[in-house]
Amino acid sequence: MRGFLWLALLPGALAAQVAIETVPVRPLQGSLFRMRVTATAPAPVFELDGSVAGQRLHFRTDDRVIWESLAAVPVETTDSLDVTLVLRGNAPPDTVHTRIAIGAGDYPHETLRVAPSMAKPDSAAQRRIAQELARARAVSHASHDTPRQWTGPFLRPRPGRITSPFGTAREYNGEVTSRHMGTDFAGAIGAPVYATNAGRVALVARFYLSGNVVYLDHGDGLVSAYFHLSRTLVKAGDVVKPGQRIGNVGATGRVTGPHLHWVMRYGTVTVDPMSVLGLLGEMPDSTK
Ligand SMILES: [Zn+2]
Repeated sequence: MRGFLWLALLPGALAAQVAIETVPVRPLQGSLFRMRVTATAPAPVFELDGSVAGQRLHFRTDDRVIWESLAAVPVETTDSLDVTLVLRGNAPPDTVHTRIAIGAGDYPHETLRVAPSMAKPDSAAQRRIAQELARARAVSHASHDTPRQWTGPFLRPRPGRITSPFGTAREYNGEVTSRHMGTDFAGAIGAPVYATNAGRVALVARFYLSGNVVYLDHGDGLVSAYFHLSRTLVKAGDVVKPGQRIGNVGATGRVTGPHLHWVMRYGTVTVDPMSVLGLLGEMPDSTK
């Protein structure tokens, strides 16, 4: 079952008609989803651009009728997402604004009994953290200009157990003070970490909170990152294959023990890595 949203573009009797379909039908908070736009005659569409949640869309088409792009729902989105589409054909460009309904992500809440400011980094560390965030953000921005690097399915970066899922909210006095923005995998120090898919190594660094990190740019806005590594086995500019070993599990940065923290982003929107595997993994959910 798929959701359809039909829009007649006005004004102009010859304007194209557009249907928007999403997979899954109701994308969840903090997830990656697929958007399918059907643009029908009489006005042919030669180029389709757009944005969702401030992130550029990267449409692909075989027939200039059905266009597909990935898009992401920020985890803090409340009930719907703004969509902007720009259709270019031999008529003047048409711009469509609409909204997509989204569903609540079922993320656990942890209630803190101690004030969260207890272990606050000092001002020098805070400046360093801000600079590192800016470097990570630059990787995300650049990925929108990188052509799609992958052809096959996305893979888990580690076999074995997930020790902490994406999205867990930490609450203090009824307010969400932080959220777990990746998926944690078990692993002993030195255990292998694999590239989730083909990409270019965009950044290898030692960060204050995240420890030794590798960021991969998969193109079309998709970025993966691997935190707390004991060792990195690639350097910036390297091209990696799906499943290539890129580093070792470690306990660098701010951690309580060795594990892999795996991050997936669409542009600057961090999504549940499991939603990427569900949509683009080896065994995508066939019911969606
Ligand atoms: Zn984590």
